Amino acid sequence: MSASTPKRDYYEVLGVPRAAGEAEIKKAFRRLARELHPDVNKDDPAAEEKFKEAAEAYEVLSDADRRATYDRYGHEGLRSGGYSPNFEGFGSMSDLFEAFFGGGLGGAFGSAFGGGGPAGPTQGADIQVAAEMTLAEAAHGTTVELSFDAVVMCGNCRGNGAEPGTPIETCPKCQGSGQLRTVARTLIGQVMSTSACDQCGGDGKVAVQPCHVCRGRGRVAENKSVPVDVPAGIADGQRVRVSGHGHAGERGGPPGDLYVLVRVKDDPRFVRDGDDLITAIDISAPQAALGATVEVPTIDGPEQLEVPAGTQPHETLLLRGRGMPSLRGRRHGDLRVVINVVTPRNLTPAQRELLEQLSASLTAENLHSDEGVFAKLRRAFHSR
Ligand SMILES: [Zn+2]
Ligand SMILES: [Zn+2]
Repeated sequence: MSASTPKRDYYEVLGVPRAAGEAEIKKAFRRLARELHPDVNKDDPAAEEKFKEAAEAYEVLSDADRRATYDRYGHEGLRSGGYSPNFEGFGSMSDLFEAFFGGGLGGAFGSAFGGGGPAGPTQGADIQVAAEMTLAEAAHGTTVELSFDAVVMCGNCRGNGAEPGTPIETCPKCQGSGQLRTVARTLIGQVMSTSACDQCGGDGKVAVQPCHVCRGRGRVAENKSVPVDVPAGIADGQRVRVSGHGHAGERGGPPGDLYVLVRVKDDPRFVRDGDDLITAIDISAPQAALGATVEVPTIDGPEQLEVPAGTQPHETLLLRGRGMPSLRGRRHGDLRVVINVVTPRNLTPAQRELLEQLSASLTAENLHSDEGVFAKLRRAFHSR
C-alpha cells in the first residue's frame, strides 16, 4: 500500500460496526480472505492490495491494545505509537495468504511469520503511557515517574526458560524446526498450514525442567517504574520516546520503546498559541483613559504591567519572551495581554454626576481614534 494513498478506516475495510466483537471481526476477515484468495483472483491485480488492506485491518482490530490505540488516535496514533504492519515484507500474495491461514486464524498472528526453521530474535513491542502535567510544568520541563506493566526477561532463568542448572534439549515435537506443518481441506481447497510448534513456542528447543518463575516462557510481566524527562516547551498531544523501555524482546531480540503521550492540563489563566501565551485582564474605563500599572499573571508568577493612557478595548500588550520556551532552540514565545476595558455599572448618584460632567466636557479631540475598531480586530486576527 503506497504511503500517499489515504488509509481507509479499518472497520470500513472489514465491513463491521465499531462495536463489533472479536468473533465478528474474525468472521469478517475470514470471509474477505476467501474472496480475495489468489486462486480465485488470478486476473485481479487489485485483489492483493485489498487482501493486504484487510489483513492489516484484522491485525490491528484483533489486538485489544492496538484496537484501543486506533479507536482513540486513528492511523496516526498507531504510526506514532511505533506500529507498522507485520507483513510489509511479504513478496507474493500466496506467501501472505499462507502466512495468515497457516497460523490458524484462532492463534497468534506473529507465530506463522518465521519462515523456515526456528523463529529468530524478535524485538519487543512498544508501550504507550500517558503523562499528565500542568502548563507550568510543561513550560519549565519536568521529570515524571511513570508506572506501567511491561514484559521483562525472567531474572530466574535469564530468559532461557529452564530452571537454573538444568539442560535445554531439542524439541521432540518439531525436531528443532520450531514449526508444525499440516495439510487441511478447506472451503477454498487444500491449504498447507504452517504454525509455530506449541510445545517449544517456535524456539525448536525446550527446557527439560521449565523455570518455576516464568513457567518456561523466559519472560514475565512486571510493574516497572521509569523516570522520564519531559523537555521544556512540550505541548499537549506530543510524544516523548524513551528508547528500550518497551516490552522485552524474544529470543535475544532488543526491547521495544516506551512512548509517553503528554497531556497538558488546561490552565484557566492562559490560552496557548504555539509558543505564545494569551491572557486577558480587566481594567476600568477611567484606568484605560488615564493609564495604570496593573498586575498580570505570567507562567512564572504575577508581574506588573504598564497600561498606557488612552488604551482602547481589546488592545493587546506584549510581554516579550514571557511565553512558552521553544522546543527547538532557546527562543521563548511572548505573553499577549488582551486589555478588557470594563465600563462602570451600578453607578452611585455621585459617580453618575462625575461621569455626566466628564461626558459633557468631551470633545472630538478626546474621541479621536487612530484606527477603527474593525481595523484593530483585523490586525489582532492577522497577528496570530
Ligand atoms: Zn524463568
Ligand atoms: Zn517444537
